[in-house]
Amino acid sequence: MPRIVIIGGGFVGLVSALRLAKAGHKVSILEADSEVGGLAGTFETNGQRLEKFYHHWFKSDTYVNELVSSLGLNGHVVDRSSRTGSYYANTIFRLSSPLDLLRYKPLSLFGRIRLGLLVLQVRLVRDWKSLESITAENWLRKQVGNEVYGKVWGPLLKGKFGEMANKVSAVWFWNKLALRGGSRAKDGSETLSYFKGGFAALTQAMVNEIEQAGGEIILSEKVDDVIVEENKVVAVRSGERTHPADLVINTTALPIFSDIISRHVPDEYLQKLARVKYLGNVCLVLQLKRSLSDTYWLNVTDPDFPFVGVIEHTNFETTELYGGRHIVYLSKYLPTDDALFLMTDQEFYEFAFPYLQKIFPDIGQDDVIEYACYRANYSQPIISLHYSDILPAHETPLDNLFLFTMAQIYPEDRGTNYAVRQGIEASDYLQERILRRAVSATPD
Ligand SMILES: Cc1cc2nc3c(=O)[nH]c(=O)nc-3n(C[C@H](O)[C@H](O)[C@H](O)COP(=O)(O)OP(=O)(O)OC[C@H]3O[C@@H](n4cnc5c(N)ncnc54)[C@H](O)[C@@H]3O)c2cc1C
Repeated sequence: MPRIVIIGGGFVGLVSALRLAKAGHKVSILEADSEVGGLAGTFETNGQRLEKFYHHWFKSDTYVNELVSSLGLNGHVVDRSSRTGSYYANTIFRLSSPLDLLRYKPLSLFGRIRLGLLVLQVRLVRDWKSLESITAENWLRKQVGNEVYGKVWGPLLKGKFGEMANKVSAVWFWNKLALRGGSRAKDGSETLSYFKGGFAALTQAMVNEIEQAGGEIILSEKVDDVIVEENKVVAVRSGERTHPADLVINTTALPIFSDIISRHVPDEYLQKLARVKYLGNVCLVLQLKRSLSDTYWLNVTDPDFPFVGVIEHTNFETTELYGGRHIVYLSKYLPTDDALFLMTDQEFYEFAFPYLQKIFPDIGQDDVIEYACYRANYSQPIISLHYSDILPAHETPLDNLFLFTMAQIYPEDRGTNYAVRQGIEASDYLQERILRRAVSATPD
């Protein structure tokens, strides 16, 4: 039976391991971190586990629902209506329904109508490939005009992608809107979903099933090299330890993958991988004595603010789960050499808190019970123009080594739903390979 090694225990690694182990294969996940979950990982607080980076699902996220059902956890996905808003020119505006949109004062009436019509324009896009050669900025200016772009979408794009904002393809933006639109009811209200009790319970259920099916998960095992014989990967290395492997799936971000294989592949291949750029993310997670507002998702479209969103998680999931604490995330996407990314937790908190106070002047430092900062080096691939030309293939220059990573999710944007889909694709891909080898090895 072939030995399968999966590098990375995020959602892609867990789902592919789960399926391969259940199909009777010998699978090992090697995970660099001391816990599984990757970007959807959690930390312990006050006896409860909480995501390091805010997470929810859209109604169109069907793969996660299938995963949950396959684990026998039906009923654990809870649907909640979400209150969204926008902070602009020192004011919070509710933006949860079409009526809210019509009352959105920063825009002229014409602008409000154009903003509302964008939902329909998004639905009219039949062939996303036609958007590959247009930047999100140019496409949006054309759809909604300069006023709406300048006051709504421009600041959000800039807030998320910074200097890279004008490189982002319209495909990325269109898909983001299409996904979010899929979570809206006919009356325009939005419903989002969450795993009851948090994502840790879901990853733990996957871990249990992988282990029950005979798979193994080795934590704190950072892969740094592969052993190659006659262009075939025959083992994976972590420091001094060697893990023999007949088939390997890499699920890490491309720069990490490049480092792992750099000694064994042509430079051209590494240069191709390097064409995909990423942004890092730093998230400040605050645990507060009181709520900031009744809004779950507050887009910050004020260009003077360094954050693109204030997410009050406990306006989505109940505070009881967290011993009555109110959980707030302040999120910032940025290059990893940015001074903000390099700040210590305390420096980042001291930098960020006054901005939060500008939006919510009643909140004081004494309302903060605890805070923590989480950082991810590769949190968002930048979907640039003609991204399909630089999309890496699942096959690699090395035999037995396959690539299933976040940067290959396209035209959709990354997310746990598509990580689940990718885990399914990875396991199908390998099983098909195993079957093909078995057939070719059978004597006539
Ligand atoms: C701020 C933020 C908010 C988000 N919000 C949402 C949301 O609301 N809803 C949603 O569905 N998704 C959301 N996502 C995206 C979602 O978390 C990811 O798309 C998904 O978790 C990616 O899974 P993955 O397995 O592809 O990658 P990862 O989670 O990155 O997994 C890769 C794994 O590889 C490990 N690894 C790295 N290097 C090595 C090595 N050398 N050896 C061994 N292991 C290694 C890593 O530790 C990690 O566990 C969000 C992400 C961020 C950053």
